[in-house]
Amino acid sequence: MEQKLQKQFQKQLEKGKKQLTNDLRNFAQKDPKLKGDWDTQFPRFDIHRSDKNERADEVERYESLLPIEHALELRLKDIEKALEKIKKDAYGKCEKCKKEIELKRLGACPEAKWCIKCAS
Ligand SMILES: [Zn+2]
Repeated sequence: MEQKLQKQFQKQLEKGKKQLTNDLRNFAQKDPKLKGDWDTQFPRFDIHRSDKNERADEVERYESLLPIEHALELRLKDIEKALEKIKKDAYGKCEKCKKEIELKRLGACPEAKWCIKCAS
């Protein structure tokens, strides 16, 4: 891949990484023990002040955030992997068939691991 193009994708990836990290920080904390893992913060209740309904709402909120956290975390991992590949000069190759991933696809999803054929 052309250096110029690769630089463009790298910029896009770094931007995505920043955005995702910010999104995750809104409701989750980085797990200090596990690299790349995030934990959604479980609500801490003020037993004396919040009533039972409020606590139930909080738990519901927590449960609805978990799948979101998981999806963001996975995307962040893919982005970091793609950035690694740029460093190793292996960016833009399909992990399944080893062919070059279509530029159209990388444009829409710079962290793509597979070409259109392998992904479908
Ligand atoms: Zn492929």
